[in-house]
Amino acid sequence: MLPSVNIWEKATRSLRTLRLDTMRGKFVAFAVLATLFTTLAMTVMLYGRNRRSLSDRVGQELRLLSSDMAREVDAWFDQRVYDLRVRASPYVVSDNLARATGRNTAQSLNRLRDYLNSVRQNLPAHEGLAIIGQDGQVLTSSGSRTGFRLTPDRLNNLRTRDALVGEPFWDAGIGKAALVLVVPIRRDDGLFLGALGAKINLDSLGNMLGQLSSDNSRVLYLITEQGHLVISSAGNSADVMKTTLPEATTRELSEREGQTIVQSRPQGRQVVAVLRRIPQLHWAAVAETPRAETVREAGVLRFRTVLLLFTLILGVGLLAYMVGLFVTRPLERLTEAAARVAAGDLSVELPTGGSGEVGYLTRAFNTLVSRLREKESQGELEKLSLTDALTGLYNRRHLMGTLASEVQRSRRLRRAFSVLLADVDRFKQYNDTHGHLAGDAALVKIAEVFRQTTRQVDSVARYGGEEFVVMLLEANMATAMLVAERIRARVAEQDLGQGTLTLSIGVAEYPDGGDTPEELIATADAAMYKAKNAGRNQVVVAGSMEQRPQPQEKEKKTRRKREA
Ligand code: GH3
Ligand code: MG
Ligand code: MG
Repeated sequence: MLPSVNIWEKATRSLRTLRLDTMRGKFVAFAVLATLFTTLAMTVMLYGRNRRSLSDRVGQELRLLSSDMAREVDAWFDQRVYDLRVRASPYVVSDNLARATGRNTAQSLNRLRDYLNSVRQNLPAHEGLAIIGQDGQVLTSSGSRTGFRLTPDRLNNLRTRDALVGEPFWDAGIGKAALVLVVPIRRDDGLFLGALGAKINLDSLGNMLGQLSSDNSRVLYLITEQGHLVISSAGNSADVMKTTLPEATTRELSEREGQTIVQSRPQGRQVVAVLRRIPQLHWAAVAETPRAETVREAGVLRFRTVLLLFTLILGVGLLAYMVGLFVTRPLERLTEAAARVAAGDLSVELPTGGSGEVGYLTRAFNTLVSRLREKESQGELEKLSLTDALTGLYNRRHLMGTLASEVQRSRRLRRAFSVLLADVDRFKQYNDTHGHLAGDAALVKIAEVFRQTTRQVDSVARYGGEEFVVMLLEANMATAMLVAERIRARVAEQDLGQGTLTLSIGVAEYPDGGDTPEELIATADAAMYKAKNAGRNQVVVAGSMEQRPQPQEKEKKTRRKREA
């Protein structure tokens, strides 16, 4: 169980390192896999066919070689027979042979020997020549080593035939492979007189085989019907000529003449061989090649195929990578840009100009970002116009607007709300003592206390230099007083950096303190001044120390205004 989990983990990890999660990775993987499958299929097909054609080719070559060999040997033999027959036909031969058996034996034999010697000069392959009488005895010869004799039986064959050929043999005297060829000598009227024999070396056959087997891996040789080796392209010697192919081998080869056969040779060697008969010599031409050679060629073929496959995959992979780059680059740029925008950077601007989906996406993205930029700067402006730069509280303008709408709403709903106006006590002195900057810092801290001690729905504004106004929604005078007292107490105990400050706060309630924003503020302001006069650091509720304007009187006032 555990090992399989490990393997799975490893596999996914290595997949991750391949970055298959990226578009580019997928692109490359897809292209490589697609190429791999198609090329593999093609390779298997081509390889099979090539292999077949390879063995076909080797077989065909061997078949061609063997028949070439057979034809050449045949022609060689025809030429030798012809050469000898031409030399056996002159009148000087028949005449002297006829007379050699008569009275002038010695003279005729001398003439015949001279003739043979002159013939030999012109036929270099003929190691020795001899005139044979009707009894099979050699009458005369060129050179001394030409001791061949024919049985009367064999000689009799010559009466009806053009030529007789002996078994090939190794002539130790000349150190060459040779054979004996005998042609009849006849009188003009056809009377059989005897025979002209020649011992012919097989050098030219050896050369011919050597030339045919220009490729070293192909071995060509001639064998007799019995399987005795005559001559081979691999070299010739007395030992070679002693070699005999096993009977079964020879039989199999000749039974399937002209066909490619796989055979075993001594030492377990496997060969591919083809045999072709040479009927007039009772020989056969064999062309063979080690089977390992075809296997090796197949190996080379396989190597080339694999190399081609790898090159293809590499090439396609590279191409896919580049196309992937081309396709995914703009997308990656988009992704990066989107991340930057998400992190709050709206200065992003992507190069456009591409066509297609990505180009469209890029343009849409740029538009989106520029809209966002506009929105943000608008928001900034709006905020600036609503709030006070130093404390971040609402500014006087915004407060007056809010108060106006709250007055309307409370009038409609017949609800009360309250307004506090606070002024910092002896702030001039704080400024003078600690400097204007310390004064600013103190204002910021006081503003913070206001924020903390009021509700979200209440509006806190910086009304003037060191004056603050709070609009307490749906709060009657009693509640407003509590809030004001809380603010006053908190500010008084707040460490402002260079000491503490206190507030004087006036409280006014709608509608008793006035039914316009200005009236309400004025009422609260008057109460605040009372707090100052009463010794500062305290809350004064409008109407608590003086007579507020009576509603009836107020109504009269407005009526008077309307009449005017
Ligand atoms: P009191 O109100 O108790 O009568 O004494 P006060 O010293 O506070 O007197 P007043 O309200 O007349 O003085 C206001 C001073 O506040 C005047 C001015 O120097 C100072 N001030 C106004 N706005 C700012 C500001 O934004 N920053 C700083 N540091 N000082 C300011
Ligand atoms: Mg003041
Ligand atoms: Mg003051």
